[in-house]
Amino acid sequence: MKPHSVLLAILCTLCLLATSSSAQATKQPDRQVAVTIDDLPAGMSDRLPAADITAMTAKLLGTLRDQKIPAVGFVNERKLYKLGEVDERIKALQMWLDYGFDLGNHTFSHPSLNQVGLKAWEDDVIQGESVIKLLLAQRNKKLRYFRHPFLDTGRDLQTRRQAEAFLVERGYRIAPVTLDGWDWMYAGVYEDAKKRGDTALQQDLVKSYLSYHDAVCAYTEKLAVQTIGYEPKQILLLHASQLEADHIGELMDMLRKRGYRFITLEEALGDQAYSLPDMYVGEEGTGWLDHWAITIGKPPQGAPVFPQWVIDRSKVLQLPQATVPVTPPAQ
Ligand SMILES: [Zn+2]
Repeated sequence: MKPHSVLLAILCTLCLLATSSSAQATKQPDRQVAVTIDDLPAGMSDRLPAADITAMTAKLLGTLRDQKIPAVGFVNERKLYKLGEVDERIKALQMWLDYGFDLGNHTFSHPSLNQVGLKAWEDDVIQGESVIKLLLAQRNKKLRYFRHPFLDTGRDLQTRRQAEAFLVERGYRIAPVTLDGWDWMYAGVYEDAKKRGDTALQQDLVKSYLSYHDAVCAYTEKLAVQTIGYEPKQILLLHASQLEADHIGELMDMLRKRGYRFITLEEALGDQAYSLPDMYVGEEGTGWLDHWAITIGKPPQGAPVFPQWVIDRSKVLQLPQATVPVTPPAQ
């Protein structure tokens, strides 16, 4: 071998070694996440005509189907009742089933269990079943999942347990949440920017939405290990919106980069974490990792702070606000 060939061989070997060690350094654990999408047919249903809801739904579901990402959509049936648009709004829900996704109940009118009485809340749960039960039955499917509005599970343990027993009796499995990047707050501001053609603001919002979700994932993964000793199969909370229709693909890419693969809600719920003791009660709804941490007397700390400029923008638009912006409650 000539000297320069030897040098080349050494360089190549070094190069290979460097590549394999850097691949090892960036190797992520095998993470799993189930995607859930609330407030169907659309979070901003009052502001959107049915045609826009249909287009938004097709775009959102098209991306998820192309990328083979399972999802459950949680419905507020009150949003179906807009004069002259009922059929088209119901068709948007049918689209979920036609595309192979599942539907769950998110109550009829989105009341907080912490704000209304248990009986009124239970009536709202029942009222929220009528159309989706029918749509599912047409496909020989059963209504299986329930998601609490605002993640409010009751301000005292008795109410919480009574509501849970009621849900179980009606055949529901409660859908907890472990990953929540407060996308609904971005979605309202994004929608307005899109309507006004403000592309610069849209880009800023998407950048922040992606980086905040990334930060929430990093925080949650760490909190999980500190609290329960491992990262459970996560359940991500998103909302049906134009923002998700336009950008959910990028969010899924971010999750893949963190090592996540996508599983069904049923698979996620098979994780033993979801059977852990959970004594959480509180005025503010929150994620289940917080529930578990508080139950064992280790309240979580250091959650990433939601960008104030997005909250300020949202306030200017008079969009629904959280009562405690620093610890964002879910919608
Ligand atoms: Zn909701």
